[in-house]
Amino acid sequence: MSEPIHILYVDDCPFDRELVRDALEKEHCGFRVTEAISRADFEMRLAEGDYDLVLSDFNILGFEGLQVLKTVHSKNPDLPVIIVTGTGSEEVAVEAIKSGAADYVIKTAKHILRLPHTIHAAMKKQQMEDERKRAQEALRYSEAQLSDAMKIAMLGYWEYDVAEDLFTFNDHFYAIFRTSAAHVGGYKLSPARYAELFLHPDDAPIVAAETKKALEASDSQYNRQFEHRIIYADGEIGYIFVRLFIVKDNQGRTIKTYGANQDITERKRSEEALRESESKYRTLVENIPQKIFYKNRDLVYVSCNEKYSNDLGIRPDQIAGKTDYDFFPSKLVDKYRADDKRIMETGLTEEFEEKYLQAGQECLVQTIKTPIRQKDGTIIGILGVSWDITERKRAEAEREKLQAQLNQAQKIESIGRLAGGVAHDFNNILSVIIGYSELAIDRVGMEDPLRKDLKEIYSAAIRSRDITRQLLAFARKETITPEVLDLNTTMKNMINILKKLIGEDIELAWHPGKVPGPVLMDLSQLDQILANLCINARDAIADVGTITIETGTAIIDEHYCSEHAEFIPGEFVLLAVSDDGCGMDLETVDHIFEPFFTTKGVGKGTGLGLSTVYGIIKQNNGFINVYSERGQGTTFRIYLPRHSGDISEKQRPINEEMVNGSGETVLVVEDEMAILKLAERILSHCNYKVLLANSPLEALEVAQSHSGEISLLITDVVMPEMNGRELANRLKKLCPGIKCLFMSGYPAKVIAHRGVLGEDVQFIQKPFSTKSLAAKVRETLEKKTK
Ligand code: ADP
Ligand code: MG
Repeated sequence: MSEPIHILYVDDCPFDRELVRDALEKEHCGFRVTEAISRADFEMRLAEGDYDLVLSDFNILGFEGLQVLKTVHSKNPDLPVIIVTGTGSEEVAVEAIKSGAADYVIKTAKHILRLPHTIHAAMKKQQMEDERKRAQEALRYSEAQLSDAMKIAMLGYWEYDVAEDLFTFNDHFYAIFRTSAAHVGGYKLSPARYAELFLHPDDAPIVAAETKKALEASDSQYNRQFEHRIIYADGEIGYIFVRLFIVKDNQGRTIKTYGANQDITERKRSEEALRESESKYRTLVENIPQKIFYKNRDLVYVSCNEKYSNDLGIRPDQIAGKTDYDFFPSKLVDKYRADDKRIMETGLTEEFEEKYLQAGQECLVQTIKTPIRQKDGTIIGILGVSWDITERKRAEAEREKLQAQLNQAQKIESIGRLAGGVAHDFNNILSVIIGYSELAIDRVGMEDPLRKDLKEIYSAAIRSRDITRQLLAFARKETITPEVLDLNTTMKNMINILKKLIGEDIELAWHPGKVPGPVLMDLSQLDQILANLCINARDAIADVGTITIETGTAIIDEHYCSEHAEFIPGEFVLLAVSDDGCGMDLETVDHIFEPFFTTKGVGKGTGLGLSTVYGIIKQNNGFINVYSERGQGTTFRIYLPRHSGDISEKQRPINEEMVNGSGETVLVVEDEMAILKLAERILSHCNYKVLLANSPLEALEVAQSHSGEISLLITDVVMPEMNGRELANRLKKLCPGIKCLFMSGYPAKVIAHRGVLGEDVQFIQKPFSTKSLAAKVRETLEKKTK
């Protein structure tokens, strides 16, 4: 059973009260009645009790039912009041209802009996009213909440009434646009005015199109979301996000659209900034000259830049899903993947040089690989950057090679200087030994036991002289008399001598080719070159074999020079000597031109052969090259500069017969006393009158004070005070008919260029033998002066 309904019943008439009480209690329908019989009683009981309903007589002594009504409602407006009236007049009823009574009951037996029902109805009505109020309250509350939410979310509400052709906006809507209804002139605006105030002109078509679609939509659930630019009240440009819904009438026409707007300017700005920085990053990745790629944890490509994909012959968007196996030989891939795995395991960035395949061509790249991590640090892949270093590496190797070649050349050069210096001093001493031993031999009788000893001294000195000659040749200090030679003709004459030199077991093949012109060279130097090369070739051939000598033309271009330090470009006369002998390893090839380098046993090789060849060729502005491999034979190629002059018909001056003089006066100038004395001995022995001078100045004095004719000047070339040539010129003024013979072991820079005397100059190389000096003196004296 529910709680009884507690009723406060106000009536001053005992009879009526009895009647009502009967009616309410008789029915047993759950009423509890508290009676008030006077105004004071009523006020007291109303204040004390908690009632569900008040039942009041209309006419109470001293005051009216309507006053009861007022009093009750002033205390609790929701407490229903029913007025009971005896008069039954219509006006009273109307007045009561107007004043807020829940109902009224006429005091007739019939109506009183219905009183419980009336009370229940009033209660019900009140209950409904309460519910309505509660609902209304809830609605008000939720509306307020929505409004707050919209405010927080910066949502603006809008409606568009099609019939009115007007928008209605709320305050938040205006707030978004940084303005207010008061400013704009109310909550309602025409579409045109709205567009004028707030719409970015470029985006008006978006809004127009959306509105059109909404009006034409057939589905009542139709809704849309879209964005467009706006102009804030302060003139700034922004973005809003619009949600749109529609309302249709029962004929299916859209009568209203409504929705919410949200300001998304901030978001748009940061998106734009992000896009911008992303596009900058993209641009960087695409334009950087390096290859960039990204693989996932399974080493499957995720993306790469164009540079990388171009190398692989695909577009960048085709790389995803591929692996290295799709592009590279597995040998390379194994290495790549091992690196990738290690980097993902250690989490460390690594940089290395590695082989790579580009357009089918193996090349070298420098690669940096770095693990890619997600926010929590887990490694999710590999980022690689790599660039081609093939060219750089090649250039480096090239530079190193050239540097090594230069170092080698410089080394040979300095050894040459050293050897040359020693040989020069040595030469003078040897001249003395040779000269005096010759004179001594002439002096002692045939049977004299001393003769044999003297001959030993003589031949040892000659051997030493040969060695010093070679050293001087290597040091380019040997004085030469170059001739203009046709190499093929000259060679033809030499072949037979060379054949004798190498013996019968070895074949000598001679292949003359077309040469671009004559060469300017000392014939004996050419002999030396060929003799040395052929002897070496012979030594390299164990028993039988072939030595091939060829001539031809060689064009040396810039490219070749860039790879060979000592070469200069041009057209050259080529002389090549090849053999099919034992060949050499690289280590040997590196040293062969150094003096005293030999692989031959003691007493067999001097190590001076090739250094002599090298020196001679350098002296003649040529180059030499060697190609050799162990077991594959050897080829020496000599490149000599082409000479533009005529071929000379000079005879080889080999006339060592002692030729005596007929008392001519000869002036000998030499700063080396021993040589001077030797010359005196030889020349007076050969029937010449000999004047001696220890220096050029002394020579001038001697010439001046000498009364008779002086037929010949024999002078050293390098002397203090002035050189031999200068002395000769000055003496020619004193003694007009005088002839000159120069002698030197060390003419270097003094005579002409690179120690080369002019072709018409008479010259004798120190150390000289008695015979050769006598012969040369004769030759000079007999030569016709021009
Ligand atoms: P030598 O002949 O006195 O040893 P060279 O200067 O003539 O001195 O040669 C130096 C070295 O170069 C030789 O000892 C030899 O090892 C090597 N060589 C020279 N020419 C040849 C060749 N044609 N084949 C093989 N090795 C050679
Ligand atoms: Mg040799």
